[in-house]
Amino acid sequence: MTTQQNSLEYARECDRTDPLRGYRDRFYIPPAPSGDDSIYLCGNSLGLQPKATREALEQELADWRNLGVEGHLQAKNPWLPYHEFLTEKYAKIMGAKPHEVVAMNTLTVNLHLMMVSFYRPTAKRFKIIIEGNAFPSDQYAVKSQLEFHGFKPEEGLIELFPPLGEDTLRTEDILETIEREGAETALILIGGVNYYTGQFYDLKAITEAGHRQGCVVGFDLAHAAGNVPLRLHEWGVDFACWCSYKYLNSGPGSVAGCFVHERHAETERPRFAGWWGHDKESRFKMGPDFHPIPGAEGWQLSNPPILSLAAVKASLEMFDEVGMEALRAKSLKLTEFLYSLLEGEEGFKVLTPREPENRGCQFSLVVFEGGKRVFEALTEAGVICDWREPDCIRIAPVPLYNSFEDVYRFAQIFKSEVAKCRHLESKL
Ligand SMILES: *Cc1c(COP(=O)(O)O)cnc(C)c1O
Repeated sequence: MTTQQNSLEYARECDRTDPLRGYRDRFYIPPAPSGDDSIYLCGNSLGLQPKATREALEQELADWRNLGVEGHLQAKNPWLPYHEFLTEKYAKIMGAKPHEVVAMNTLTVNLHLMMVSFYRPTAKRFKIIIEGNAFPSDQYAVKSQLEFHGFKPEEGLIELFPPLGEDTLRTEDILETIEREGAETALILIGGVNYYTGQFYDLKAITEAGHRQGCVVGFDLAHAAGNVPLRLHEWGVDFACWCSYKYLNSGPGSVAGCFVHERHAETERPRFAGWWGHDKESRFKMGPDFHPIPGAEGWQLSNPPILSLAAVKASLEMFDEVGMEALRAKSLKLTEFLYSLLEGEEGFKVLTPREPENRGCQFSLVVFEGGKRVFEALTEAGVICDWREPDCIRIAPVPLYNSFEDVYRFAQIFKSEVAKCRHLESKL
């Protein structure tokens, strides 16, 4: 006998047979007001704490306590090359070669560092193409770069918007804009997965279209890293930046990551330099001339915060063990289940594209009536998700630690609250 597809039994059955089921226990799930585990669907904003993080941090605290400065070379995980312990793991997640990735700084800082090198406008070619309503930090970064080079954002910024009446961008429109504006465009900088709608763009097609027009193509992968499969090297992306505290579960404000394609490894492009980007052999000769390490590491500025990198390391070890393929497989199954639970219901719409290749695990739900009330009711019921004015609830069932039962329970509460609000509105 098969259990009914949309039932709690079905969800539990999926959890029982889930090859990744053991991973949930390797995270701390914040408690709900009831004292039970909350239904945590906010991994798109801040990923949960792996239990392994504490031990990783304690290792570094102990080595600092016991070794002092000697820890740079003698710590169990020596601090001098510490960021290198993350390289291979990041390379796999990003679809990159090891020398194309580096853990450093924070996301917006890296966006600026990359633009210093890769946004080199001329009088004829100075525009930047971004998504309309991009994440505010990206908008500020891009506008300030335009202004820094003496251009007005009104002249230099080209924003991509969906067709009237639609919620997400059409790939053909993006490509058409690139073709039309390409000759005057210096840089295309788009989020890999849009933070608001959850749309996963066709990064390969965008990169190819940009390169045909002679533009540099970079991506902000804040919502893509650890969420969707990436092949940055193969797609030929020039550079990319991401943070580690969303799907990568490395703790609030933790060290970010950066990708620079190997064709730029020995670039003559200008950059802002610091000693950690200097050739490793001669770094401690303390000479006055900067010789960059070939590859992404050459953009490092400072010796990195080891306590933060330790948290990244603990988390990436888990990603390495699971692999993005298994994560994506579960992610697709979880989100399909959520779709099937929400389909045919009224009072809200899903902004996120239906097709799996156009989304990761985030769902953006626009509630037509009383969205804020629905959100508050969800919170009271122990669901942790997020609210974006004026009407959007974002949730992300994360394959590492969310269960099919989480998804089922969310959908039940959500549907019943939406129905209550519609009932109230119809009475008013
Ligand atoms: C989360 C996020 C940021 C945050 O930037 P920080 O520099 O890490 O504070 C920036 N851009 C996008 C697209 C994001 O999703």
